[in-house]
Amino acid sequence: MVVSPLLRAVIMGPPGSGKGTVSARIIKHFGVKHLSSGDLLRDNMQKKTEVGILAKSYIDQGRLIPDDIMTQLMLTELKGLDQYNWLLDGFPRTVAQAEALDKECHVDTVIDLDVPFETIKCRLTARWIHPASGRVYNLEFSPPKVQGIDDITGEPLVQRDDDKPETVSRRLQAYDAQTKPVLEYYREKGLLKSFSGTETNKIWPHIYAFLQTKLPDVSQKNAATPR
Ligand code: AMP
Repeated sequence: MVVSPLLRAVIMGPPGSGKGTVSARIIKHFGVKHLSSGDLLRDNMQKKTEVGILAKSYIDQGRLIPDDIMTQLMLTELKGLDQYNWLLDGFPRTVAQAEALDKECHVDTVIDLDVPFETIKCRLTARWIHPASGRVYNLEFSPPKVQGIDDITGEPLVQRDDDKPETVSRRLQAYDAQTKPVLEYYREKGLLKSFSGTETNKIWPHIYAFLQTKLPDVSQKNAATPR
């Protein structure tokens, strides 16, 4: 029996880069445990734990959780995943977090989704809604018959604040400023694997092929056209 070594991977990518889709596919094909810092924080907030209550005050202000709190939370969780392959998502977000992680365990690879900001902006700003009914349109996949107008009522469509170009730009800039040093940190260690492209379905086969050199595909489906 061939025993594959455990994989310790990190996935990084800006909001709208397809990170959720890619992570789900990695989990499905390679059976790794997925640990998302955002999910873990939301879970703590819902359960109103001490960390959750503290985290809420930062998240509500759009700020990062302090490194020591975040690191302790994630490292405790990782201890329980000792025997498994894992994929970290949303952590580390700062160099201090990356260094703290390094002290506890060896990271094998960092998958970086390198999607042009212009592409992401188009994706994230494509959503328009009709506030009264909640109808959602997507300019790419399900556009209204007349641009900016609800099909049924003829009333104007609006963008959510979060989807407005200026907000999206600000979020992308914040991601860039925060995570560039982390990407550099891993690049210098020779761990960074960047996958560039504008479409998740075109990037995915390259990520799949890369991971197949490290882990067997455990999904039931024929792996010829991995989805
Ligand atoms: P996410 O779902 O990954 O976007 O995380 C939601 C929020 O949780 C972020 O906007 C941060 O405020 C906080 N957060 C998540 N991960 C981290 C982290 N590694 N370090 C600090 N704050 C984090």
